Amino acid sequence: MTTLNSLRKIGVLFFGMIMYQAYALDEPLAIAEHHTIQLKTRLVELAFEEENAKLYSILETTRIHFSADMDASEVAFSSIDDNDNRHISISNAYLLNLSLFIQERLTSMEFIDADKIFMYAFYDVLLHEFGHHALDAFYNDYTPPQYIPMYEEHAQDWAEQIKMSIDSDEEGYGRIVSLTALLDYSMSHSEMAWQRAALGNKIDTECAMVSHNIASHICTELIQEGIYQLQN
Ligand SMILES: [Zn+2]
Repeated sequence: MTTLNSLRKIGVLFFGMIMYQAYALDEPLAIAEHHTIQLKTRLVELAFEEENAKLYSILETTRIHFSADMDASEVAFSSIDDNDNRHISISNAYLLNLSLFIQERLTSMEFIDADKIFMYAFYDVLLHEFGHHALDAFYNDYTPPQYIPMYEEHAQDWAEQIKMSIDSDEEGYGRIVSLTALLDYSMSHSEMAWQRAALGNKIDTECAMVSHNIASHICTELIQEGIYQLQN
């Protein structure tokens, strides 16, 4: 009986692994939900390790929604409602676009691990949103516009700090992949033309400090010489 049970367990485990493999980038939403649980678990551990009560409370109270109503250009946003509940909304359309971008633009590279790239790009987006909550860096229509880039920068700095604390994306390409996927989308959507310059500046800043293959592939072949031609 024991052997049979063990075999059954192995069977279930094996089947589970096959199911997970089958998702690959064809099921970006399911993958993103899976990564959300994993990242939250890791962040809860970190909150305990660092005795960071604020981080723990944010993790406990923030609801993460995957939204079918958001456009790909909206990527993600954070908010606090009237009952002090925290929310992070992530655009399903952006996640689909991210997986397409990785498949179409990055898989020509031999050393590519598309699932890992998707994960780190997604972590970048999600951690950035957690950063807004951790720092209470929110703004609305009444916020003086000069403060907005500062809040955005602080949220991203927080995200980069956390990536280091949890030993995630040590090669440091999550940010550039998440930004370039948005740039890629903007190229085929004329209504996003006005966002391209700002996006280009952010990517140039990232490109100035690249050290990893994937990031440098994006910066040289896609940005500088390639299909996006940001300088023009
Ligand atoms: Zn932001």
